[in-house]
Amino acid sequence: MNKLRCMPLVFDPPAIPTLPVEGSADRFPVGEIFCVGRNYADHAIEMGGDPSREPPFFFIKSSFSILSDGEEMRFPDFSNDVHHEVEMVVALGLGGSHVPVEEAMSLVFGYGVGVDMTRRDRQAEAKQKSRPWEAGKTFVHAAPCSAIAPIEETGIVDSAEIDLMINGQIRQTGNINQMIWKVPEIISRLSELFLLRPGDLIFTGTPAGVGPIARGDSLEVSITGLPRLAFKVSSS
Ligand code: MN
Repeated sequence: MNKLRCMPLVFDPPAIPTLPVEGSADRFPVGEIFCVGRNYADHAIEMGGDPSREPPFFFIKSSFSILSDGEEMRFPDFSNDVHHEVEMVVALGLGGSHVPVEEAMSLVFGYGVGVDMTRRDRQAEAKQKSRPWEAGKTFVHAAPCSAIAPIEETGIVDSAEIDLMINGQIRQTGNINQMIWKVPEIISRLSELFLLRPGDLIFTGTPAGVGPIARGDSLEVSITGLPRLAFKVSSS
């Protein structure tokens, strides 16, 4: 019996963020949100990098950044340059540390599609001053994410079209088979740096074509075979 459960808390903690599970009334409880930077060569190049010399890397977004399908995204403060980055999201049902690549897929509960919303001006400022990225990557609604489709239903998803549309026009398109680090390698590498836990999400990087969103925009993102995600940006 966990003793902590019997102790009164000084206030009621905020409810943890959850996502729908496709084909079920159950919800997926969200833990950490790990993100992979520059995991597609064409995006690394558009950001001024050289994918042959600089491997992908990780950063974390607060789990309180989650926005679910159909909700309205609040346009964030402190930015005039908010960018979309469509990404495949891997949802973990088991945790671990130092997980070998060959065992990594056993941690996966399912998949979704999400957007790594970025205050690009705040991120550029952080890069220039060699400061951390949180101001660029974490804010209310910085992590829109679809329902999670269980891997028992989808099978392993390692090749599928990924795209993002704004107001019906295609802005990003690619294939998840273009990832530099594949999902098992991402999980294995992450598990060396961090303790992975059930509920953690991994945003696996974006293909080329990132660009700004505007107030009032309607976004639709999809990966073939996975639940879709659609949402509108607030008009003020
Ligand atoms: Mn990203």
